[in-house]
Amino acid sequence: MNERPESPAPRGSGQDRRDDLARRLARVRETVAAACAAAGRDVAEVDLLAVTKTVPAADVAILCGLGLRDFGENRAQEAAQKVEEVAGLVPDAAPRWFFVGGLQRNKARVVVPWVTRVESLDSARLADALDAQARRAVDDGLREGPLPVLLQYSVDGDPDRGGVAREGLGALAAHVSGLPGLRLDGLMAVAPLGAEPDEAFADVAAAFSALRDDHPSARVLSAGMSADLEVAIRHGSTCVRVGTALVGERRIASR
Ligand SMILES: *Cc1c(COP(=O)(O)O)cnc(C)c1O
Repeated sequence: MNERPESPAPRGSGQDRRDDLARRLARVRETVAAACAAAGRDVAEVDLLAVTKTVPAADVAILCGLGLRDFGENRAQEAAQKVEEVAGLVPDAAPRWFFVGGLQRNKARVVVPWVTRVESLDSARLADALDAQARRAVDDGLREGPLPVLLQYSVDGDPDRGGVAREGLGALAAHVSGLPGLRLDGLMAVAPLGAEPDEAFADVAAAFSALRDDHPSARVLSAGMSADLEVAIRHGSTCVRVGTALVGERRIASR
């Protein structure tokens, strides 16, 4: 396992990178605004979550300076380190961190102290682990209230890619609602590779609607990435998770 994010490579001057990120951010905001307009929705209904996995802390600091506040990470250890680095680089920025990747139960304690919301909750066992850590963090004064979570819904039901299949969604939602350390805020989904995004997000919207029938306070639908955010917005997404379009191709190097 020596797949690791490449260390921050020279990318021209800091100013060049800042200009590049500013241009990209403007383009993403335009795309989101156009998709909202096309869907007859208010742009204020759709949050932008910048997915910064494999992206160096220096870039996150630049994005904070450009007015972004919400960042998504998918590896516990990488994220924990980045949270600290960004706090050192831009101490006044107050970024909020979202966890969007597969999470092992024994990593719950790494994530809970700094995470604003876990979007990838897909099993009762992980829920129990997060609940225990969240309650402990409240006792220790590290958190104030229950930890907001989204259930990750698997459109194709393939367990290898994370997420809970449609049949399991109701039971997992009921389980999470019974845990005092967690707060069920909604649903997250990724369109399966090769799937028709329109069909995939129509299915996601139906699953979200069923969830809300039983849990009206679950208002967040986190759906849509760089390649399919317009379709997701058309199907009611309230949070798009954008990586590539914002920061460029991820570069993973072995070392
Ligand atoms: C990487 C990732 C994203 C962002 O994907 P892009 O195609 O780079 O925009 C969104 N959501 C999750 C869960 C991810 O892992």
